[in-house]
Amino acid sequence: MKNLSEYLTEAERNHGHMCPGQVLGVRMAMLGCRLIGIEEPKVGKRLIAFVEIDRCAADAINTVTGCRLGKRTLKFRDFGKLAATFLNTETNEAVRVVAVESSRELARQLFSHLSAKKEQQLEAYKTLPDEDLFRWQRVRMHLPDADKPGHPLNRVMCDECGEGINDHREVLRDGQMLCRACAGERYYQPIN
Ligand SMILES: [Zn+2]
Ligand SMILES: [Zn+2]
Repeated sequence: MKNLSEYLTEAERNHGHMCPGQVLGVRMAMLGCRLIGIEEPKVGKRLIAFVEIDRCAADAINTVTGCRLGKRTLKFRDFGKLAATFLNTETNEAVRVVAVESSRELARQLFSHLSAKKEQQLEAYKTLPDEDLFRWQRVRMHLPDADKPGHPLNRVMCDECGEGINDHREVLRDGQMLCRACAGERYYQPIN
């Protein structure tokens, strides 16, 4: 694993700017990896990260872990929380790490000599111990075969729209094999 400042340089490049979310995300991922015995996060595909937010910190978690949607090693769980769960698929060890609310107030108190809130948070999140920034808990994770990295398990065609569906995402209804869109989960409205 690299050190915090090396990861922050990389995170800034990857994300496009430096922000408190980069610091929290980098530290969250470093902590998570350490807790499940992963010293070299980017080696192989044994690390899976379940990210609970689609904001700044998510990019930082990607920077440290190398977990990506396209490798099936990054899973998005849209809970709107600054939290992530890290799973070592070799040992099945997993830990969920969440940023604590009190760190904002702590940043304001301890770094009141810095005028901007952003600067206060950047300094606090770089220097405070993990215990002041996060809570974490060992958890049990089940990763279904259809969610694992590797070749697609199967591929079928939707009986309604004819589009291909990988990895058992199809829905069986009244004897029909449907994609999730045709089964009612369409997130877009066709025009014309
Ligand atoms: Zn940002
Ligand atoms: Zn369909």
